[in-house]
Amino acid sequence: MPVIAYIGLGSNVGDREGNVRRAAAFLAGAGRVAGLSSLYATEPVGNREQPGFINAVAAVETSLDPGELLAVCRSIERELGRERTVRWGPRTIDLDILLYGDRTVSTDELTIPHPLMAGRRFVLEPLAELAPGAVHPVLRRTVVELLRELQDPHAVVRLGTAGTTP
Ligand code: ATP
Ligand code: CA
Ligand code: CA
Repeated sequence: MPVIAYIGLGSNVGDREGNVRRAAAFLAGAGRVAGLSSLYATEPVGNREQPGFINAVAAVETSLDPGELLAVCRSIERELGRERTVRWGPRTIDLDILLYGDRTVSTDELTIPHPLMAGRRFVLEPLAELAPGAVHPVLRRTVVELLRELQDPHAVVRLGTAGTTP
C-alpha cells in the first residue's frame, strides 16, 4: 500500500525558488506528488553567516520504502548540483524526509520522523498547510499542536500562494 511521505525542501544558493520547484517536480520519480506548500523565505538556522533560505514541503504518495525514497532524494540533490560541504552550510538544494506515513525509522542512514522537524518553524509552517492534522508518531502530537508549542524565533515569511495544496 502506498504511503504519504512529506519531504522538506530548502535552497539558499543560486535560483533558490527555481531549485525548490525543480526538486519538487523531480519528486515525481518517487511517486505521485500530491501537494506542494507555498514557498517561504526563512532565516538560516545554525550557521547564521549564510544567505537566507527558500523552504517548502511536498507531499508524495509513494510505494518506495524509506531507503529507496532517500536514494531518490539524494539523486535529486545531485541532479540539481548540490555539493556536499559543511552540515548546516549553504546548499543548492536539501531534501529531508520529514514523515513517512505513521512509521518510524531508525538506521545509520535514516531517522524518521526527521529528528529536528518539531523544533523548526521553517518545516512546521509549510507542513501545516498540507497536513495540519498529521500525527507525529513519536511525539504523538499533530502538526498544528507542534506549531502551537513551538519556540523557534527564526523568521519564516510565506511568499504568497506559490504552491498548490491537495
Ligand atoms: P539536518 O538533518 O539538520 O536538516 P542536513 O539536512 O544539512 O541537516 P545533510 O548533510 O543533508 O544534513 O544529511 C546528512 C545525512 O542525514 C543524509 O545523508 C542522510 O543519510 C541522513 N538522514 C537521516 N535522517 C534523514 C531524513 N529523515 N531525511 C534525509 N536524510 C536523513
Ligand atoms: Ca536539512
Ligand atoms: Ca538533508
